[in-house]
Formats: sequence, structure tokens, C-alpha cells
Amino acid sequence: MRLALLATLLLAAGTVCAQTVVLRAAGLVDVLAGEAVPDAVVVVDGGRIVAAGRAATVEVPQDSHVIDLGDQWLLPGLMNMHVHLDLLLPGTMAATHANESEAELVLRMADNAHRSLLSGVTTVRQPAMFPSLAARAGRFTDRATMPDRRRDARPPDVALARAIERGVLPGPRLITAGEMVNITGGHGAAVTPLHDGPYDMRKATRYQIRAGATWIKLAISGGIATPVGGIGQPLMTRDEIEAVVDIAGRHGVRVTAHVGSAEAARVAVEAGVNGLEHGYFLDRDILRLMRDHGTWFVPTIVVSQPATFDFFERIGSPEWYMERVREVGRDHWRALEMAIEEGVNIALGSDQHPFEPNDGTTATVREAEYYVEAGMTPLQALRAATIDAARMLGMDDSLGALSPGFEADIVAVDGNPMEDISALRTLGFVMREGRVYRNDWE
Ligand SMILES: [Zn+2]
Repeated sequence: MRLALLATLLLAAGTVCAQTVVLRAAGLVDVLAGEAVPDAVVVVDGGRIVAAGRAATVEVPQDSHVIDLGDQWLLPGLMNMHVHLDLLLPGTMAATHANESEAELVLRMADNAHRSLLSGVTTVRQPAMFPSLAARAGRFTDRATMPDRRRDARPPDVALARAIERGVLPGPRLITAGEMVNITGGHGAAVTPLHDGPYDMRKATRYQIRAGATWIKLAISGGIATPVGGIGQPLMTRDEIEAVVDIAGRHGVRVTAHVGSAEAARVAVEAGVNGLEHGYFLDRDILRLMRDHGTWFVPTIVVSQPATFDFFERIGSPEWYMERVREVGRDHWRALEMAIEEGVNIALGSDQHPFEPNDGTTATVREAEYYVEAGMTPLQALRAATIDAARMLGMDDSLGALSPGFEADIVAVDGNPMEDISALRTLGFVMREGRVYRNDWE
């Protein structure tokens, strides 16, 4: 009885509408057709879109619940493909959560998930739990060697993803890569269980998949947060990467790699990884190779550009960290520009909380703005944040567009974002699977 009451209270976080819901707005962005459709209506039933288009062409069912968004524009819910709900960077941020238990960690992740959703992000991919936290929470003990009772416990990310999926907690759809698969001496290797050689890598990959991961994340080179070792060094060997891609492929699981160097990227792309993260030092040759292989690039450009420097100051980042950020910033920007020029598949990812304040807006929106500054059209940037991200996930038959049959993940902004991407800064309405979580214009 009390549990049922609690569930009802939690569900009240979003307005539930059993009846058909109709959204009226000044227009909508059709990311599939690449068109701005004025005078728009979207009909939602059972959490899915059943009709969308010009008001004159859409039949509105009798006695449906109409939400009139006036002058606002509708677009698909934003998708952020590089999010760590458990993010913990060196400095005061790490100090604040120094003694965090696993229970406290899950609560923090749930809060970050809720805030991500309210910022307009309806799907996130978590490319691995954040390694630097692990040592403190004691979570990254190799589960393969744990006693059975603990080993079979659901990891925090998988537990949270399921709670969100069941509607118990408000949050974006959470697709997770579990714990990063790493090698001795690699990025994040101070704390994660370590694997060396293809046999270890196969076991680690299978282990993450069994625990609930639907992506595998590899760290094939050093990173900004690795205190020792160059960002550009290719640390993981070809046979190790190939072993992971092989096992993941057998399970229908995709693989992405944290990469800082062109040399490491080449090995990974040739081995068949589905995507590369950050890509600080990607050159034109490797970007062309990625285009030819259909490899995805998730730039996370906000992590190295001036818009985020306030953020790093706020969280008390140490000087060695800031030096690294500045060092990679210029090359990272050039890699993004070239990737756009070469027509590489790009999906938006921020590597910061989707809602993190940056330059007067959120990390997700600032990331999209940077794509336009680096050469994308506003439509291309919107696609990177919606349908292209869905393509990368292999979920583009149900996510990332305002089309019949798609999940009713819908946000609204003040103005047409195809004319000016910064319209995203005014985002004030969030619906996920037909449920309204935010409406600033009510
Ligand atoms: Zn990351």
C-alpha cells in the first residue's frame, strides 16, 4: 500500500495523460526531411507519435488533451551521446564526493538523470562509469573475482537505467557501456580492473555484457584526466582491440573508443570499432578512413574550448589539468572542423552533465552551437543531436525524429532552430514517451 503510494508520488513528477495528447506550435523541425514545417501539430498516443505535420493536414482526434505551445517550435528530444551521470573530475568536485558510498553514488546519478531530462535531453549514452571515482567507492573491484552474492548485483548504471525504463524514476533513456575495458597503464587504469592481451579482453567484454552493458568502451590511448602518459600514445594493441570488437559483435553490442591520437585511431577504425570519442588529434587521413568505414565521431568539443573554462574554475580543477585542456584545445577544434568538412558521421556528446551551465546555456546546447561555429549548418547540428545519434545507437526507427511510430520524445524552443541554433537556449518544454516533465509556457 505504502509502496503504491510512493510510486504514485514519484510518477507525479511527470504529468501522466492516458488520453490522446495534441501539441500545437508555431512550427516543427522535421530532421528526416530537413524541413521546417510551420503551423505544426503533433498527435501523441500511448507514448508514441501517431501523426505530425502542418495543422491543415493532421487529423486531431475528438476529446484529446490539447497543449498549445503558441509561438514555440517543436523538435525531437535532444540526445547526448557522451554523458557520465557519475562524473567526478579532479579538484573540489572529487573532494566533495571523496567518501561516497555506492548508495550515495546511485542517488547522485538519479538526480543528475532527472536534471538532464529537465534540460531537454531525453536519451543519453553513458560511455562507461567514470573511472576516477571508482577507487574511492570501491566499486571497481573486479566483479569476476567477487563472491557470488556481490558479483550478481546490478551495477549502479544498469539499475538506474532499468528504474527509468520502468517509470519509477524520471530521467532520460539511459544506454550504458558499463565499466570501461582497460589495460594496465592505460587511461583510467589507476583504478579499474586491468586486462592485458586478447584473452583478458574477451573475458572483460563478456563480463560487461553479462552485467547489462549494451556498448563497450575502450580506452585505447591516454586522456586529459590521465595524470601520467601522453594523450597521443597508442597504448592498446591491435589484437586486444580486435578481440573486443569480435566478442561485442557476437552479442550485437557496439564498441566505442576513447582516443587521443591519430595513430591509435587508425588501429581502432581498422579493427572495426563503431565510434571514437573526443578525437583530440585526429588528422585528415584518419577522418577520411572513418568516413569510409562509417565510424562515428562524438567530439565532446566543450571539454577543451573556452566556454567551459568557467566550469573548470567552478569545480576547482588543478593547474596540471587546465594545462592539458589548453594544450589540446586548438588541435581538438581543428579535428572537429576537418571532420565536418570530410563528412564524417557525427553524434553530439558533451562529456559533461547535459545540463551543466556553460556560457549562459547548457553543455548540450553549447556543444551544438560549437558544431555550427565549426562549419555545420544548424540542421546538421540538430541532426547530430537527434536522428544521427539515434543512427549511431541503431535506434533510428523509433528515436530522434517527429514522425509517426516514433517515441514521443519532444522538446520546444522559442524560435526556429534551423534559422538560429541558439534558439535551443530557450528550451522550455520537455516530453518523454508522451509524458510532460516541463512546460515553462503553461
Ligand atoms: Zn567521458
